[in-house]
Amino acid sequence: MDKQSSIIENSLKAIMDDENFLPDLKSQTRDQAYKSLVSILTTPNHIHKSFLRVTLENGTVTRVPAFRIQHNDILGPYKGGIRFHPSVSEEEVSNFSKLMTLKNALHEVPFGGAKGGVVVNPKEYSVKELNLICKKYVQYFNDVLGPDKDIPAPDMGSGEREMDWMMAEFKTVHPGEPYRNSFTGKSIVNGGSEGRREATGKGVYFSFRYLMHDYANKNEKWLTENDNVFADTAVKYAKTKMRMAIQGFGNLGSVAALEAYKCKYLQNKIVAVSDHNVMLYNEKGLDIPSIVNYTEENGGELPTQEVALNDYDINASIHENDELLELDVDVLLLAALEDQIHEDNMENIKAEIIIEGANKPVTEKADKFLSDKGVLIIPDILANAGGVIVSYFEWMQGRDTQFMGEDRIYEKLFNKMKYTMDTILPQFFGDPFPLRQNCYIHAVTKLSTIMFRQGKLY
Ligand code: NAD
Repeated sequence: MDKQSSIIENSLKAIMDDENFLPDLKSQTRDQAYKSLVSILTTPNHIHKSFLRVTLENGTVTRVPAFRIQHNDILGPYKGGIRFHPSVSEEEVSNFSKLMTLKNALHEVPFGGAKGGVVVNPKEYSVKELNLICKKYVQYFNDVLGPDKDIPAPDMGSGEREMDWMMAEFKTVHPGEPYRNSFTGKSIVNGGSEGRREATGKGVYFSFRYLMHDYANKNEKWLTENDNVFADTAVKYAKTKMRMAIQGFGNLGSVAALEAYKCKYLQNKIVAVSDHNVMLYNEKGLDIPSIVNYTEENGGELPTQEVALNDYDINASIHENDELLELDVDVLLLAALEDQIHEDNMENIKAEIIIEGANKPVTEKADKFLSDKGVLIIPDILANAGGVIVSYFEWMQGRDTQFMGEDRIYEKLFNKMKYTMDTILPQFFGDPFPLRQNCYIHAVTKLSTIMFRQGKLY
């Protein structure tokens, strides 16, 4: 069973044991409802897959595998990114579609969960060919997409350009119908939202800051009296200088790094950052603005040579990127790929706090091992929802054709995440479950209650 399904099942077990959950359900129907919910929430509603027929610039025809998996729409139209990557598989897309349903339920975003994928390495295709792949994706799945049906967004390997192309194709395929909110993550000139690009990185850092500073300081007395290892960690680090390492320096990692560097509430020292080539390290703390300046001028890549470091006044040493995870730091911010902390390296992790910027960067086994050891993991479902929350604002702006400024977007984003955390944290610090499990219990309770009230469990 995949990680999402097993946490869903455990969460359902926990809520079914709670007599306050759906008290109308009597004992004989409770077991039946549990089985129905496991079945509904661990399987997608629809799996759409196809082979896009694409004529390459050299004249040959190729078939590109593509997916759109719609998990659950009880909360509203399906929503989720489209990943362009050679490792995309039906299983991966399906798992991420479940995470989207739960993420939206947790953060009160009125969307269901979906995910898409195209099995390509975008670097191996020309711009014209990529444009054709995007158009074909919309043509093949056009019946199931739309502003009130299923609203895709960018994911790894896709971005504003692809969403602009797809929205344009949607408009061509559906003449006269609303199209501006058919896709999110578009460029601003095409109806994208201010702040969408930075939303996930800012939200990831906000989740950490809110927990470790705002919440920990405000509730210090209660947390100190609590017999809870995670509360001890929160109190300990709320007032201590934290050494942080950030894996991945793309959109999410670089924005979160800047937020951490500039933060006036917590004393962060970012000692290491990495990308797919290298790790940069400085015991005294890295100058993040200079590094961001370098990456912006060099195709998003970190410097790999001493001479480049000198040219940009970056004081750091260059190392292998895989050294980062096992560094002696307090905080690890994971902003690269899935399954980075696993069975083979979990015992060497020294950080006491892990922030999941990427989706599922810690495997199920490592998650259990580290949580049992008292490592505080701020899970993906909680931390990296900034993208889908601002996508929701973009969808509303496209529907109403009224647009908000950047400051207003961030204010609304942080308020929404604060609301979620204020709901979850008292429960988390007051009971024995890790934060991820608490988030899932909350999301699954909401979905189950709505499904029960709508008569979907019979
Ligand atoms: P990105 O492509 O902009 O950046 C990825 C970064 O990871 C790059 O710096 C890349 O060099 C680095 N990387 C790749 N392999 C690595 C390795 N082995 N070691 C160290 N670094 C490595 O992607 P992003 O938008 O920053 O997203 C990062 C992750 O977060 C992805 O997994 C994505 O699916 C997830 N995510 C992103 C968003 C979003 O809105 N950007 C939202 C939710 C989840």
